[in-house]
Order: sequence, then C-alpha cells, then structure tokens
Amino acid sequence: MRRDDRLSIIFAVSEATPYAKTGGLADVAGALPQALVKLGVEVAVILPRYRGERAGTVGRCVKERVDVPFAFGTKTVAIYADEHKGVPFYFVDVPEYFDRPGIYGPNPSEEYPDNVERYAFFSRAVIEWARQCERPPDLFHCNDWQTGFIPLYLRTVYSAEPFFRRTRTLFTIHNIGYQGLFSPTLLERFGLPPEVYRTEGGIEFYGSASAMKAGIVFATAISTVSPKYAEEIQTPEYGHGLDGLLRARATRLVGILNGVDYEEWNPATDPFIAANYSVEAPEGKRLCKADLLRTMGLPEELDRPVIGSISRLVAQKGFDLVREAAEGLLHTGIMYVLLGSGDRELERFFRDWQRAHPDRVGIYLGFHNELAHKIEAGADMFLMPSRYEPCGLNQIYSLKYGTVPIVRATGGLDDTIQPFDPTTRSGNGFKFFEYRADRLLAAVHEALRVYADPSLWRACMENGMRADFSWERSALQYRELYERVIAGEGPFGEPT
Ligand code: ADP
Repeated sequence: MRRDDRLSIIFAVSEATPYAKTGGLADVAGALPQALVKLGVEVAVILPRYRGERAGTVGRCVKERVDVPFAFGTKTVAIYADEHKGVPFYFVDVPEYFDRPGIYGPNPSEEYPDNVERYAFFSRAVIEWARQCERPPDLFHCNDWQTGFIPLYLRTVYSAEPFFRRTRTLFTIHNIGYQGLFSPTLLERFGLPPEVYRTEGGIEFYGSASAMKAGIVFATAISTVSPKYAEEIQTPEYGHGLDGLLRARATRLVGILNGVDYEEWNPATDPFIAANYSVEAPEGKRLCKADLLRTMGLPEELDRPVIGSISRLVAQKGFDLVREAAEGLLHTGIMYVLLGSGDRELERFFRDWQRAHPDRVGIYLGFHNELAHKIEAGADMFLMPSRYEPCGLNQIYSLKYGTVPIVRATGGLDDTIQPFDPTTRSGNGFKFFEYRADRLLAAVHEALRVYADPSLWRACMENGMRADFSWERSALQYRELYERVIAGEGPFGEPT
C-alpha cells in the first residue's frame, strides 16, 4: 500500500504504557495504536515527556524547537521520539510543566494545581508539532479532558489554518468523572477567545470552564469505551452533568469496548507468576495461588477460596461497599487480597482490617505491577464492585486467568460479564445490580455455591478463559469509525 493511502492518525494522550501509567487509559494508549498499525493505519502517539522519560535513556530529540503561543507569549518546546513494538511515540518536552514527580500530582491522592494549564499547553503543543509535519493528519484522536483542548483550539484559534482544512477529530471519553474544570479567567492565558465561555455550543459548565466539555462540543465525533457506558453517560445518574449535552450529540457518540493486551496478560506466558497455565493445562493455577498466599503473608490454605481486587481506591471503584460488607465477607470463609492505593481513609480501613485478621486479609497499599499479575493468577475470584466503570480492564484480565469476576453490573463490567447459569453452564461470572453491600454479599454467596461444585466452577472458569477480548476486534471498529468520520458520513458530515 502506498503511504499516502493510509489513514494517518495522531493519537494524543496524557499517559501510555510502557512509558507512563496511572490507570487503564495508559493500557489503551499502549495497545490500541499497536493493533491499528497492524491494520495498516499510520498512528503516531504523542504524550508529555514526564520525569521518568527524562531520567532514563528513552527516546532521542527529533525536533529542538517547536514554538507554542501561550500565556501572553511563546514557549519553545522540544520533541523526543521513541518506537515501541512498531508504534512511533513522541514526547513533548516542557520541563516546567512535566519534569515533576508523578503524572497528575506528586502522589495518587494529590493533584497539581496547574493541571489544566499543563494539559492545555500540551494540547496546543501537539497541534503546533503536527503543523510542522510533512502532511496534516487525517484525524486527531484525543483522549479524556487532558486533550479536550485540541478540538477546541482547532475550531477556534486554528479554524482558518489551511493545513488542517481536512483534519477531523475524535474525542474518546475514558472516564467522564474527571472533567478538567477551570476558571474562565484562564482562557486568555491559554490564548482562547473569551466567547467560547458560553453554555450553548461552548465550554461553560456550572460557572466553570470544562476541558471535557470542550472535547465533547468541538470534536467531529465522540466515542467511549463500552457500549453500555455510551448509554449510561446520557443519563443523569452517570452523566456527571454532561448527560444533556451527550443526548443532544448522541448521533455522533459511539461505544467501542476496549481490548486487552494478551501479550502482557496471559497466564500461559506471564513471566511474573509462579507457574504458567492455560485451559488445556490448568494445573499451574494452584501453584500461583500458593505463591500469592505466601507473597501476601497469608497461610497456605489452598482449599479456602481467595477473592482478589486490584484498584485505585477512589469513590468510583466501590470499595466503600467492601468496607460495609467486610464482616459478612469473612463470614463466608474466604480470604481477601487487595492491591491498591488512593483515598487515605479507605487505605486506613484496609490496613486496620488486615491487622485485625492477618490470617484472612492481605493488603498491599501502593502500585505494584508484578503483584497485580500474581493476584490475577493466584486468586479464585476477582471483585469489582464499581459505582461506575467505563470499561474496566481487570475483569477482562481475570477472565483470561480463570479468576472468576464478581462485578457490579455497570458500564463495561455489564458488557463483559454474563451471569453463570449452573443449568446451561453458560456465563463467565457473577454480578449484582443495585449499589448495596447486601447485594454484593449475595453475589459472593452465589459464586461460592458454584465454587463448591468443582465441575461447575471449572465450566465457569473455562468460559472466561476461552473468551477473546483482544485489541484486534476493537481496532477494527476504531478503523471503521475513523473512516466514517474522515469521509464525513451521516452525522459526521453535518456541521457540529
Ligand atoms: P482505571 O483505569 O479506572 O484505573 P481499569 O480497570 O480500566 O481502571 O484499569 C486499571 C489498570 O491499572 C489495570 O491495568 C490494573 O492492573 C492497574 N492497576 C490499578 N491499580 C494498581 C496498583 N495498585 N498496582 C498495579 N496495577 C494497578
């Protein structure tokens, strides 16, 4: 295929594996571009050059000067480049904004006060860099509020720029709960015209300006990371105040389920776990369980069911339900293992719970990738009681590892987990609907009843292990969406 026939996409994002990660967004940004490249799409990923990339030997400087008009003047940035698994990654180097500890803040529960400015600047730098490229991209694929400024800048400051005349934008919502709200007095600093601060067709949001709203209002197309979440965010319960706007733009909104990277998350090849295993040769899982119990300082009672969780400890993830159900959970006879960090009060609760039941509860507070793999492999069940969950990755990893998910039926959890039915032996997990601790416990009880029958449990595990949530499928849907958006098909051809 000739180079010019290929779709050319700039994928702008605030974090991407293997470079910088706080959560699932990084996994998507690491894996989707790889799958797209395999489908013949030309993708360049661009993110900030954080301290981690500065310290090591990541990348080389490919552009020493890109001038970015901002804050009553022009700042000059450098662009670094690296390649990972066939995907070109670019890094915008702005030490004053990004040479700091952490990504969004010095630790998971603290944010930098100038975050909106950091990412507004990053967004503008992405556009200025793209402008210096040989040919314009067909589409900017923007991700979450941090890059919501890209469609906004393109449709205002750069609207008369002939270079971008044919360039379209896709704005993907990975989590509508984080919106990048800021004082409208900053607009001037960002070089944006004051009239964008309006309610209809602008970025005003209950007295603040919203970077998330900028993405939704000004992008050619909007997507989110599961079909169910695409429906949910159009309702007041899940829309975080943007449901009305999303209903109005519903014809441009598409839900595409995230895939997972089975090169990284596969019990047959995983280098971090005590023994590899698969549907055909499942014996290793028991060794992984013994290894996990040892690692967490728990007694090696291999016949006791182990429930695991790996999560950011924030309100979205529903760990207040686990706290409420704590006593009832231990009453069922299980052991519980948690890897997570975030909310200080929840962290304190889990530390205390472990102290009170050191032979039943294992807690690791912090971020630990290797331990995450050990939990996926060693636990029998995986608990995700999320209040809302745009897609969720851990339940999909769990399926592959034969670690049966118990989830609240919301967003991607609802799309990926089907209740196990002992009569037909169909289904891959257990779910509860109402956000209540007693409902969570009921789902755990149901799972334990099936667990008590090894043949049924095996069937449930195998249904999960055989399922395919690889990126290839999702990448095909993204490619198709890109094509429709670029061609201006249907709603994507109408003025926004
Ligand atoms: P979110 O993006 O909302 O945090 P996801 O389920 O989509 O939730 O993705 C979470 C990702 O982050 C997974 O890859 C998970 O393994 C990882 N993760 C979350 N917390 C930790 C932690 N404390 N240690 C290691 N990995 C973690």
